[in-house]
Amino acid sequence: MLNIILFGPPGAGKGTQSEKIIDKYKLTHIATGDLFRKHLGEGTDLGKLAQKYMDEGNLVPDEVVIGMVDEKIKETQDSSSGYIFDGFPRTVPQAKALDTLLEEKGEKIAGMIALDVPEEELKKRIKERGKTSGRTDDQDEAKIENRIKVYQEETLPVANYYDGEGKFVKIHGVGTIDEIFGKISSEIDKLK
Ligand code: AMP
Repeated sequence: MLNIILFGPPGAGKGTQSEKIIDKYKLTHIATGDLFRKHLGEGTDLGKLAQKYMDEGNLVPDEVVIGMVDEKIKETQDSSSGYIFDGFPRTVPQAKALDTLLEEKGEKIAGMIALDVPEEELKKRIKERGKTSGRTDDQDEAKIENRIKVYQEETLPVANYYDGEGKFVKIHGVGTIDEIFGKISSEIDKLK
């Protein structure tokens, strides 16, 4: 299995690039934000629990996220040749839990690829996406600011965690979608 984390702040282009990665490398996409929005749309208990955190741009508690990812891996592992994790892990405890989940299956994270995008560009992209995404957290300045703050305070340490394991690489995430995908692809090819 080839297991990769696509890392970066909100608006960095993780979702867009993940689509291209799964297409080229035939990996299974696990995007926790998408999974929460699906639960929300279906009105499940998990969706209702997550909603109040998502509405404010805060993180859903670790145990809830980890349980959801564990379930998704169990559902897909027999048919999967690897995973692209998008929007997860977002805290160091989530990263440690993911390592444990994979270890139990004799698997590991091959690498983390981080998209580096300046803050002003992130805000611009999120607001632009908000015009069509229907996401309330993309349309409110205070929520956008909070998501970026939460990323800096709670999520950035995850990069250090994988850097410490020699698994971290950073890519400049400004340019055309294809230019950025080209850089990501060459990093993935090194991990294969
Ligand atoms: P995203 O689509 O990745 O921007 O996620 C949207 C929202 O879902 C976030 O602002 C969080 O409230 C929640 N969320 C998604 N992934 C996670 C995660 N790994 N840990 C905690 N909360 C998450």
